[in-house]
Amino acid sequence: MKNSWKEECGVFGIWNHPEAAKLTYLGLYAMQHRGQESAGIVSLDTQTAGQPIHRIHKSLGLVADAFSEATLAKLTGSVAIGHVRYSTTGDNSVVNAQPLTSELLTGPLAVAHNGNIVNSSTLRTALQRDGAIFQATSDTEILLHLLAKHPSNDLVSALTEVLKNLVGAYSFVILARDRLVALRDPLGFRPLVLGQMKSGSGLCYVVASETCALDLIGAQLVREIEPGEIVEISSEGIKSSRFSDGTQSTRKSANCVFEHVYFSRPDSVVFGKSVYDSRKKFGVKLAEESPIDADIVIPVPDSGVPAAIGYSQKSGIPFEFGIIRNHYIGRTFIQPAQSVRDVGVKIKLNPQTEILKDKRVVVIDDSLVRGTTSQKIIALIRQAGAKEVHLRIASPPTTGPCYYGVDTPQKSELIASEHSLEDIRKHIGADTLAYLSEDGMWKALNSGPERFCAACFNGEYPTSLKGVETKKTTDQKDKSQAKQI
Ligand code: SF4
Repeated sequence: MKNSWKEECGVFGIWNHPEAAKLTYLGLYAMQHRGQESAGIVSLDTQTAGQPIHRIHKSLGLVADAFSEATLAKLTGSVAIGHVRYSTTGDNSVVNAQPLTSELLTGPLAVAHNGNIVNSSTLRTALQRDGAIFQATSDTEILLHLLAKHPSNDLVSALTEVLKNLVGAYSFVILARDRLVALRDPLGFRPLVLGQMKSGSGLCYVVASETCALDLIGAQLVREIEPGEIVEISSEGIKSSRFSDGTQSTRKSANCVFEHVYFSRPDSVVFGKSVYDSRKKFGVKLAEESPIDADIVIPVPDSGVPAAIGYSQKSGIPFEFGIIRNHYIGRTFIQPAQSVRDVGVKIKLNPQTEILKDKRVVVIDDSLVRGTTSQKIIALIRQAGAKEVHLRIASPPTTGPCYYGVDTPQKSELIASEHSLEDIRKHIGADTLAYLSEDGMWKALNSGPERFCAACFNGEYPTSLKGVETKKTTDQKDKSQAKQI
């Protein structure tokens, strides 16, 4: 369980549904795990006299808090896009909440983005030198400025040209006055899928970061939007074109493997694979690579659950919920000064003495970033009476930061980047510690580094990092804890 890797963003779009804004709200609700800082919806109202206009509501906070019946009722129209945000570039203020909107010569445009544009700082400076005035600090606004400057009146022609300037990860959903556009960067770092459902006598099209959003509203998955593809949905139907044929890179794709390790919901199908199935197979491989004599296998809930099931099934060691997670806590709570030790972890995770007492326990977690949370969890399991605690991590050691839309600590704060396995084991207080090997991860996925980005594990960044800019969110307290090892 991460104490410092934050989910990225989630995007959603819907075309031709009388309750477009409400279904967008539900789609965002299903993808709340992808961003909890802000939520926003823009609908396209074509009924009002005159030009079509965008109706907007954005707010900081969770989806359920950001919208009410009254705000959703104002988002009229049969087309809408939405966004949940965790900021990776740009601070967490409402001006950076998405979708971003603008009035261009060609009409209103709204943009929702998942990912991170690596060369945003260079592009922003060039645009500012050219007279552009930015409203916000996020990298997403760059696309609006590039489109505003482009001479073409046709959105897709303009996109085909301007996207060639962007380096990095982007899944965009764009709402113009007469069409909905969805596209993915040439390497397809972040997921984006197309779905459909019936709407009256016609068809309603949906795009979403994850299939769990389609499931909730009853839409069927049609296919992934391909890397380098632009899908245009309008009253004329669906059109697909490409702005990149993949020849700019030596590789065909760089799907983020961490979507399968941790970010995506286990009930989603991401990059054509069930996330639950991948995580279970990571656990199976981990049991093959790093077996241990033990009495029970327990997950760090919730993200460690599928891998723990896989480890248990392969090893034959019984699976138990040795730690119970409280699902009803918010992001902050009032903490007593000294009287209750480890309340920060305990308020979320409560070890079960009846299950753990006198047992040799294998604990399965999805990843190990700084080690501070693992150290606390292991101490709590020992306090509950466990005889031995063996930590197994269902992914390789995380040794590098992400520049593609995931907020990560700096390299020096990633425990595996600067310390040996034995040092980490001692620091967290486990009897034994083992990670899934990179080779084991590829075997579990039945794939390899030619298809997936695994840069945070192997340091092989799939794009140039020139002009790289990330949000520095590092909290000094965590920093000192990580350095204490
Ligand atoms: S660096 Fe890691 S988190 Fe970032 S895109 Fe690559 S695999 Fe995903």
